[in-house]
This record gives sequence, structure tokens and C-alpha cells, in this order.
Amino acid sequence: MMRALKARPNIQTMAPYVQGQSEIGGIKNPIKLSSNEAPFGPSPKALAVIDQEKPYLHRYPDGDQSELRNALARKYAIEPSRILCGNGSEELILLLIRTFMEPGDELVMSEFGFVMYEVHGQAQGAKIVRAPERNFRTDIDAILRAVTEKTKIVAIANPNNPTGTCLSGSEIERLHRELPPSVLLMIDSAYAEYATDKAYEPGLDIVRNAENAVMLRTFSKIYGLAGLRIGWAYCPQAIADMVQRIRTPFNTNRLALRAAVAALDDDEFVAKSQAHNQAAVARMMTGLQEIGLNPIPTETNFILVQFSIDSPKTAERAAAHLLAAGIIPRPMGAPGLRHCLRISIGQDHENEAALKALAQFMTA
Ligand SMILES: *Cc1c(COP(=O)(O)O)cnc(C)c1O
Repeated sequence: MMRALKARPNIQTMAPYVQGQSEIGGIKNPIKLSSNEAPFGPSPKALAVIDQEKPYLHRYPDGDQSELRNALARKYAIEPSRILCGNGSEELILLLIRTFMEPGDELVMSEFGFVMYEVHGQAQGAKIVRAPERNFRTDIDAILRAVTEKTKIVAIANPNNPTGTCLSGSEIERLHRELPPSVLLMIDSAYAEYATDKAYEPGLDIVRNAENAVMLRTFSKIYGLAGLRIGWAYCPQAIADMVQRIRTPFNTNRLALRAAVAALDDDEFVAKSQAHNQAAVARMMTGLQEIGLNPIPTETNFILVQFSIDSPKTAERAAAHLLAAGIIPRPMGAPGLRHCLRISIGQDHENEAALKALAQFMTA
């Protein structure tokens, strides 16, 4: 008897991940507002060290990641031994899930939480439990109600992608306090540098004194290094030691490690990006409201814009209109968000072009 080769059932039922579109057929240099990338390119300091590193690309990278871990430790006044670097923070999500979850365990996330928790959780055979949101905001009580004996990880993006909303430091603290010690709280602070809400905290203080919380950060967003793939996690020592066992020694590459150290030191670039983002978000929020749209207030470098559920001014039609104008937004596939487009903050001329195209769409 011949038996066909079959993938594991939990993988067969997964939908393939759809990346933000980057091209439009027939249009040269489209305005790409689909992946929350930095509008001004990479940090110039990072670019400079990449040139210096090129002659050494025949050498393996430093498997200990010590230069970057030490630089992060100095900047944030934390212990280097509790830091792990990943091929994007996305790899650290994967490693944490693989370290803690067995098939049948539950991962709790917010209704409109970051899709990568689901992708890696499902691949591991975990059951994904989504806690309903209120006004597109993570609801701590709903998250706590969703926790059962089988829960191993609660994953929260703060600020969240794709909603753009955030929880305050004290809300996350309460969530952590009320979770059983057997549950890991994963605080994904990919957009920390963009948050302007005074009550926001990235989670450093919680992780410093906790045994069941980790904070994830990335160089893909404000530092403009998405293409290099580099992120990091701050963990309790015992968790760092466990994850180190499955982190492959060369998961982060030479260029990424050196560029991240340089970018971390590029205060001028970060300050410029923050100032730009704050002004551009304010301008876009007003502009979108003025043309009759309903954007959700954001703490990030993107805006989730609500369109009409009824024809003709739907998100789907708006996306087609933007694409025809050479602008790429991010449509939302999640039930409950199909009336939305996520639009990243670009340079001023790009944002103005998006606003102009949407104004045309709304009045046509
Ligand atoms: C972009 C993003 C990340 C970062 O992913 P990288 O793998 O570091 O590029 C992580 N979490 C959220 C919520 C994000 O939006």
C-alpha cells in the first residue's frame, strides 16, 4: 500500500500568510504604505557600518550576539544575560512559543491582535483563543476571562498592530499581576518608540522583576532595518536560558548585528522620525476626518481607517482606488476588520497623495 506524504493536520488547515503588497502592475515606484516601514529609509549610522562589515561576510556572525546585547544592556540599564536577539522579533515569538507550548495548549490573544502569534501558535499545534475587544482596544478583563488551565502564553502587542491602540503601563501591570504564574505574558512593543501616550510603558519594568513576562522589541520599525531582520527580547534569566537552547547560533547575521548597534546610537534619526510621525499622524487624522472617514486614534506609525460597510464607499473599493493612484494600503482580512484599511505613515508628500486620493474616492 502506498501512502501519500502529508503535512501535520494543524499545518494543513493554516491559511498562508499574505505579505503587504509592494508592487502595482504597470506603476513605477508606487507609494508603499502597506507594511509600517520607516519613511526615511534606514538609519544613516547603520548604513555606514554595513559598508565596513562587507569584507567579513565570509565569516560566521558572533553566535553570542555579545556586542548588540551589551549595547542594549547599556542603553536600557538591563542585564545582557537576559537579552536574546532574533532574526526579527518575529523569530523570538516563534522561539518562545516553541519553548513553552505543547500541542493542545492555549495561546490567548486579543481579538484583533498581531497575526504572527496565531501563525506560530498554530504551527506548534496550540489552540488560539481570541478575547473580544472594546472599541478596537485590548480588553484586559476579557483576556483574563479567556485564560484556562491550558493557557501557556498571553500575547499582547502594545501598541497593537493593526488597530494602533495601546494599553497604559498600569493596565499591563494589572494584567500581569492577575495572570497565574504558570502563564507567560508576552509584551510585544514593536511600536514603543512611536507611542506618545504619557501613560504608555514598553514593559521593561514588569519584566525586570517578573518570572513570567518577556518584552519584545524590533529594529524593523523606527530604526528602518526591516530588511535586515533583527529584533530582541528581554526575559527573566530562566526563560532566556531555556530559549537559548533552541536558538540556533547564527540566527542573526553579521550585517544585522552591527547595523543594530549603530542604529541604537542614532538618537538624531530616531528623534527626527518621532517628530515627523507625530506631526504626520495629526495631519492625517484631521484630513481623514474632514473627508468623512473614521480613523482610529493611533500610537504607532500607521492608521487603521474605517470605511462604510455598505456600498459604494467600502474599504475594498477604496483600496482599488488607492492602487489605481499608485498608493498601496493594507486591506484587512480579519472578520470584524474587513471595513478597514491600514495605512502606514510615509513621507509628507506620500501622505498627502494618499489623502488626496481618498478625498477623490469619497466625493466621486
Ligand atoms: C512589525 C511587528 C513586529 C516586528 O517584526 P520583525 O520580525 O521584528 O520585523 C513585531 N510585532 C508586531 C506587532 C509588529 O507589527
